[in-house]
Amino acid sequence: MKLPSPILSLLACLCLYAAPCTAVTGDGFMWHNTRVGQTDYLPLDDLRSFYKFIPVEGGAGTRTVGNGEINLTFGPDSRDLLLNGIRCRLSHPTRPGGQGDLLVSKVDMVKLIDPVLRPTYIPNRRAVRTVVVDAGHGGHDVGTVGAQVREADTTLLVAAALGRELEKRGFQVQFTHSDNRYLSDQQRVDAANTAQDAIFISLHLNSGRSDIQGVETYTVEPAEPGAQPLPGNRNDAANAALAIALQSSLVRRCGAVDGGFRRAHFSILSSVECPAALVELGYATHGAEGALLATQDYQASLAKALAEGVATFAKMMDPETTLHERETAAAAPAPPAAVKPAAPAPVKQDKPTKQDKNAANTTTSSSRNKASTRKPAANPPRRKASGAR
Ligand SMILES: [Zn+2]
Repeated sequence: MKLPSPILSLLACLCLYAAPCTAVTGDGFMWHNTRVGQTDYLPLDDLRSFYKFIPVEGGAGTRTVGNGEINLTFGPDSRDLLLNGIRCRLSHPTRPGGQGDLLVSKVDMVKLIDPVLRPTYIPNRRAVRTVVVDAGHGGHDVGTVGAQVREADTTLLVAAALGRELEKRGFQVQFTHSDNRYLSDQQRVDAANTAQDAIFISLHLNSGRSDIQGVETYTVEPAEPGAQPLPGNRNDAANAALAIALQSSLVRRCGAVDGGFRRAHFSILSSVECPAALVELGYATHGAEGALLATQDYQASLAKALAEGVATFAKMMDPETTLHERETAAAAPAPPAAVKPAAPAPVKQDKPTKQDKNAANTTTSSSRNKASTRKPAANPPRRKASGAR
């Protein structure tokens, strides 16, 4: 049974409003809307109340809310959100609110935070049976070239390993190409858009200053209220849940530096009609990371982490699972001893189920527990909002 999402009705409602105003969602929760420029914002205190979070002691100058299992940390006038330690790039910076509160954009609330906290409310939720795996570049387009790796070669190897890992987990796998040849973006998009019950994952290597490293996962920028949506916006919420599941798994399982979940208008992501993510597996231009990316062991580790991320996402998206099963069958967060009873929610259907929490808990033991010997990337460059990768 598909339950209505109060959060989505909130978005539909508030986009009609001039600020400041309030809006009541189907469960009777009163949200206090503020418009800053052309963007609708909600107070962080409303978010905290809605999810029954409590303030958590955080770093200086930041605000953290959580419930013992899930923590969200926001900074002032910042587009950085830490979700259980995983970096997420907000579509809009936070703004100062009243009485020391922060404002969080409604687009980020509806299309990033809620899908991760409550994936059972993701629109268009359907079982994932096929994974379209796209090795970035190929043929005359070799992509990024580092001292020890070439992008087209490495993505092809990781794609093949990922295919094997996915098949072990029962997924059907379609490769956009399995040999070293050139494909246009449109050919890759066509492969994704003709697959049934599919998700699309495009693999790439990054380039930048020699001191920058880390894994980054991208989805298309979410559609703003009133804007003409792109085909990729059909799955804004699912895209975020998929990308964060992949990013979290990569950081946790591979010890990769967390370059964060990000949004961009890459042409390939804009045109794909199923849930889709583009993963930058690391920087070919970083000495240590480039050397690591060239090894078969690390490529296998990346493939396993990606497959685990897909499995986590598929579990969240399976509509055949009953609500009760979702509440009881979700994988326990690590470490299992840390599992605590779910906090009460405003109304029953709004309660983040354990299944919902699984999405956020994919981030639980990642960077927080990781003792990486590699330094975090310092201010990774903002990607061009174009088809360039
Ligand atoms: Zn690339």
